[in-house]
Parts: sequence; structure tokens; C-alpha cells
Amino acid sequence: INTILATVMLCGGVYAIQIEITRPKGLALELRNAVGNDEMELYFQPQIDDTGAIHGAEALLRWEHPQRGQVPPGSFIPVAEEAGLMPLLGGWVLDEACRTLAQWSEDPVLSRLTLAVNVSASQFQMADFESSLMETLRIHQVAPSRLQLELTESVFIDDMAATVARMESLRSTGISFALDDFGTGYSSLSYLRRLPLDQLKIDRSFVQESLENDRGAALVNSIIQLGIDLGFVVLAEGIESPEQHAFLLDCGCHEFQGYLFGRPVPADAFAAHVWQAAEPAPMARPKRAAQG
Ligand code: C2E
Ligand code: MG
Ligand code: MG
Ligand code: MG
Repeated sequence: INTILATVMLCGGVYAIQIEITRPKGLALELRNAVGNDEMELYFQPQIDDTGAIHGAEALLRWEHPQRGQVPPGSFIPVAEEAGLMPLLGGWVLDEACRTLAQWSEDPVLSRLTLAVNVSASQFQMADFESSLMETLRIHQVAPSRLQLELTESVFIDDMAATVARMESLRSTGISFALDDFGTGYSSLSYLRRLPLDQLKIDRSFVQESLENDRGAALVNSIIQLGIDLGFVVLAEGIESPEQHAFLLDCGCHEFQGYLFGRPVPADAFAAHVWQAAEPAPMARPKRAAQG
């Protein structure tokens, strides 16, 4: 916010008054231009099922700043929120995600994947969120069932009833919902009864602690059981080691995401990764009978 000193003439007198106008400064101003300057990019990280097959991807926003280099979303999303740029940025993300899904639909392997997109609370609560999302899907001719929206617990704090109604309406078109960073928010567990969710994403802090001590192990196991008992698909985030993966598989976790299976990468590299993973393992060359 810039403060501008303005001098006005009023009733013949001269008064100096301060008026405040909202104008994004610094990073926020650059952020607004970044969308138009083509500095935003979506990266894709694989999500695997309990057989090890790639089941889907999460789209993660990257900002290639011409001077600063790559700015992580943790530093610019809060700025975008503050500056009221989330509708612009989030709209770009959904458009780009649907464009990607349309490209994938022409490929026999990629067309089987779902794409999960992070949606911030303020973005989800915009009056025209639903209509503009349906329009984006229509323009790119993408089936809504290919898209999953990731919400965090913060979206339920303001207006639970309106949020649930909007989720139900979007779900009736085939869009699915994941609750991101589960267990790190401050809301009570009682909301899980009412939420029309498909998937719980267990935050990576629980995964990290799962092998550190008995309580860490008990906690993540209980969270997974809770998710299973409530009928959700349970996905664990931030898996970095085979030991973590083995433990979580043992707990009954359905899906996995983390550096162990692939870091977030640009679309081309992601497609190459998926094609490679889909290739049948090279067959052992049959031994030829010794010829006489
Ligand atoms: P998130 O949705 O929970 O995404 C997972 C984050 O964990 C990503 O960070 C990902 O790169 C990172 N990650 C994945 N596997 C591992 C692992 O094995 N180890 C570790 N240490 N980290 C791992 P990233 O890409 O920096 O994004 C951070 C957060 O920014 C996201 O957390 C999400 O809340 C937000 N974000 C990213 N893209 C968007 C977007 O398009 N819209 C909105 N509203 N938020 C976004
Ligand atoms: Mg999924
Ligand atoms: Mg996410
Ligand atoms: Mg998360």
C-alpha cells in the first residue's frame, strides 16, 4: 500500500490530506506482470498407487523471475493473497492445468492420469469460481473427472455451509476433492463428518516423524486408519526413503507422493518420466539352445 500526500482545495482553503490507495508494491507488482510476461510455469509431481504405478500428478506453480531466478510458491503465494492477486494467479493455474489435461488426453498413457491442482481458500470462495472453472473445462474440452482440487483446512473456517455446498455442486460434475496438509491446521476433527471429500493428504511432517520415534509411528498409523475408516483415499506426502514407503504401505496407505518417486518437474520431463515408467520391464532374452 502506498501512501500518497495529496493537496486539495476545499471551500477556498488548502488542506493537506493523506489518502491511501491500494497498489501492489515490489514483488506484488512484479507478480502481476509475471502472468502476462509468461514467467509462470506448472511443474508436475507423480502420485503413485499401492502397486507402484503412477496414478496421477500434482501441479505445482513455479515463478521463473528474470532477475531473482526461481521463486518458490511459499514466498510468492502469500504475497499474491495479500495483494488480491490470487484470482488472477489461480485462474492462470486452472487454465494451464486444463490445457495440460487436454494435451494428455491425446496420449494413451498420460490420458489415464488425474491432475490435482491447489486452490487457495480466497480463490475457492470467489463468487465466480465455479462458473469460471466450468468454462475453463469446457474451453479445453476436459472431462471434470480428470481434475482434483486440493483444499486446505483454512477454507472451512469462514463459511462451512457455503464451502460444502460449492464442493457438492462441483463434485456432481465429476471433480474430486483432496484435503491437503491434513493434520497441520487448527480446525477440529468434527468437520470431517460433513466434508464431501475424496482424498486425505497426510502432511509430510507426519511422514518425516513416522520413523523417528514410537509416537510418530503411532500417530501416522492412526491418521491413516482414520482416513480409511471414513472412506477416503489416503495419500501420504513427502516420502523420501524406501523405509518410509514400506512403513506407510504396511499402515494401509493407498497413495504416495514424494522425492522418492519423483520431484516436481516441467511438463515435458514429467511426460518422459511417465512413458518410461509405463514401459514393460525389458524381457530377459531367452537363452538360445546351443546349436550343434
Ligand atoms: P503442497 O500443496 O502441500 O505441495 C507439496 C509441496 O511439497 C511442494 O512444494 C513439493 O515440491 C514438496 N514436496 C514434494 N515431495 C517432497 C519430498 O519428498 N520432500 C520435501 N521436502 N518436499 C516435497 P512447493 O512446490 O514448494 O509448494 C509449496 C506449497 O505452495 C504447496 O504445498 C501449496 O500449498 C502451494 N502451492 C503450490 N502451487 C500452488 C498453486 O498453484 N496454487 C496455490 N493456491 N498454492 C500452490
Ligand atoms: Mg488421485
Ligand atoms: Mg497440494
Ligand atoms: Mg501438502
